Amino acid sequence: MDLTTSREIELLTDVPPEPGELVEVASNLYWARLPLPIRLNHVNLWFMREGQESGQREGWLVVDAGLDAPRCRDAWEKLIAGPLEGRPVRRMVLTHGHPDHVGLAGWLAERFDCTLHATRTEWLFAHWRRERQGRAFGRPMQRFLMAHGLSTEMVTRFAAQDAAIERGEFPVPEQHIRLRHGARHEFGGHEFQVIVGSGHADEHASFFRAQGRVLIAGDQILQRITPVVGVFGHEPKADPLSDYLGSLPRFDALPKDTLVLPSHGLPFHGLHARLEQLRAHHEERLAELLSHMREPRSAFALATLIFERAMQEDQGRFALAETLAHLHYGETIGVVERLIQGDGAVRFVRL
Ligand SMILES: [Zn+2]
Repeated sequence: MDLTTSREIELLTDVPPEPGELVEVASNLYWARLPLPIRLNHVNLWFMREGQESGQREGWLVVDAGLDAPRCRDAWEKLIAGPLEGRPVRRMVLTHGHPDHVGLAGWLAERFDCTLHATRTEWLFAHWRRERQGRAFGRPMQRFLMAHGLSTEMVTRFAAQDAAIERGEFPVPEQHIRLRHGARHEFGGHEFQVIVGSGHADEHASFFRAQGRVLIAGDQILQRITPVVGVFGHEPKADPLSDYLGSLPRFDALPKDTLVLPSHGLPFHGLHARLEQLRAHHEERLAELLSHMREPRSAFALATLIFERAMQEDQGRFALAETLAHLHYGETIGVVERLIQGDGAVRFVRL
C-alpha cells in the first residue's frame, strides 16, 4: 500500500520527533510521536498551548491520545515529565475512534480531568469497540468471513488479529463535546474548521486552520501509505470506498500551500498532488482486481492474489476488508457483479 512520493510532495522534514520530544511545526502547533507495537509503528499527536489569554493556569490541548499500550504510556510519561512543563492537558480533540487514536483518552481524562471533543459517530464507535473487547466472533461474523471464502482455521486467525490491538484498560471518556462538519472551534487561540470525512472511519474529523494554512489531517489523508478503507463484518454491506472518494472533494478547495499534518508519516506540502495519488491508487487497485475477475472468485481468493505480502504478514483481515471495499465500490459503479451460491458463498465477477 506504499505509494512513491512524487516531486510535487515536499516533506517538511524527514526527521520525526523522538518519543518524549515536542517539535514546533507551526505557531503554537507542536508535533509528538508515540511508538506503536504494531506494523504501523507510530502515531503522531499534535499539541497546542492554551489558557494564557483567559488568565487560567496554562495547559495543553492535544489532538488524539494514542494506543493504550505500555510503550505509548511511556512516551506520554516522558512528554509529561519534560516538554509539557508540568502543565496539564485540559482538552483532547479526537480525529476518530480507532484504538491507536482514542485508546489512551480515558487514561488522560482520568489523570487530568480534561474534556474530549469528538464527532458523535466516532465517540459512539469507540464505545462500541470497547464493549466488544475480548469477545469472540459470533455467528454473524463467522458467516460473513466464511461466505467470502475463509476456512474455519482462517476465521480463528482473523479473530486473533482483531483481538491483538484491543487491549485497552481504560474506558472511553463518558462525555464528549460534539464536533460537526463545517463548525469552527477555537483551539490553541486559533480558529479551526472541522472537515468531516468518511470511508476510513465513518465520521472522521480533520481540522483546517486558515492562519498559517495548516491541516490536521488525521488518517483521512496520509503521507506515504493509503488509509485503510475496508468492509468489516460489523457492516457487511458497507461501501466505504464510495464514502471515502465522495468525501475527498471537501479538501480540494483548501489552499495549495497547506501544510498537511497526518496521523502517520511525516508533515508535508502538496495536498492536491496527494489527493490525486489517493484517487489514482484506488482506481488502479480496482483495475488490478478486475483483471483477475473474468471467472467468479471469492473476495478471500482475490485478496490473496493482490495482497500477497499483507497475507504473509498476518494482516489478512485488512487485506480482505480492502478487497471487499473495492468490490463493493465496483458493484456501485456497475463493473462488478456479486453471485450468491446455494450454500451462501459469495463470488464476484467482472461485468
Ligand atoms: Zn484510523
